[in-house]
Amino acid sequence: MENVVIIGTGCAGYTAAIYTARASLSPLILAGTQIGGQLTTTTEVENFPGFPEGIMGPELMMNMQAQATKFGARVDYKTCQGVEKQADGTFKIKVGEDDFIEAKTVIVATGAAPRHLGLPNEKKLIGHGLTSCATCDGAFYRDVPVAVIGGGDSACEEASFLTKFASKVYLIHRRDELRASQIMAERALSNKKIEPVWDSGVTEYLTDDDGKMRAITVENFKTGEKSEIELKCVFVAIGHVPNTQFLNGICELDENGYLLHKHGMQTNVEGLYAAGDVSDHEYRQAITAAGQGCAAALEAERYLAAHEANEPAGVA
Ligand code: NAP
Repeated sequence: MENVVIIGTGCAGYTAAIYTARASLSPLILAGTQIGGQLTTTTEVENFPGFPEGIMGPELMMNMQAQATKFGARVDYKTCQGVEKQADGTFKIKVGEDDFIEAKTVIVATGAAPRHLGLPNEKKLIGHGLTSCATCDGAFYRDVPVAVIGGGDSACEEASFLTKFASKVYLIHRRDELRASQIMAERALSNKKIEPVWDSGVTEYLTDDDGKMRAITVENFKTGEKSEIELKCVFVAIGHVPNTQFLNGICELDENGYLLHKHGMQTNVEGLYAAGDVSDHEYRQAITAAGQGCAAALEAERYLAAHEANEPAGVA
């Protein structure tokens, strides 16, 4: 029986692992398929405190893993397929056809995947002029044109933020009206550097000889007209999909599909905690995810201490 199983290896998962390992709980981390999480798909991270010169995303994540394992965390490269709460309050975690792990507590830190358009070359372009995070990558695109795709709060917030750096920000939306809240929409539309491109969608990402973003083809869905826009980066802000499918409905979700906290980092299921982007559509930063991972670890530790104090002698 494991004390703590941490599902996910992003900033939240590794931070939870560092804290629970240092508390001598010997956490087991289930790494899944995207080891290191979203930061492994980005290049330089300039806003994680402690790195004044910045650090490459993959290196930051490898450092976090090394720090966690140094204190006794174990990484199992299996993917969680289901979590079930048992009658005695412990958890049964499915990791294969007939492969299960039992645990007293579980920290879900599986993150959220940014939605993409599904264009053929987009995977190759991520980190080379295609991104989903203006806060992470905006500062790399100074005095050049960029575009944001989407019409929600994220798109408006990112477009407004990008005007600090870019010479021009095209805000490309598939309808003629933004979904964003009035204040965010007004802020974006009143900014002279932002040019809305209504009723339109990107149909092609065009690259230069180095394979970096050079331009996009945009189609106006009302007229069918196609045009090319030269730019250096496209910020896709068409929503995120939190990775909760494997929980099979055992936890309460908000209307956007994110795990809900009942108090602190605890979900509606006692002993099951959620940290990072899987439960946070508001901040979605590496450092906030790390902070939540720390909080979840401290809560799991307290939960275990309280339960062990009540257990009859001999029950491990
Ligand atoms: P969102 O509100 O779901 O908006 C997604 C946008 O992307 C919509 O405009 C949608 O178009 C568009 N879209 C979706 N799929 C598309 C596709 N395949 N092709 C082109 N466009 C597509 O997502 P969000 O902006 O990330 O916001 C998520 C939640 O976080 C919201 O509740 C939001 O209020 C909140 N949030 C709050 C703040 C803040 O308060 N500071 C900041 C960011 C986010 P349609 O409009 O046509 O559906």
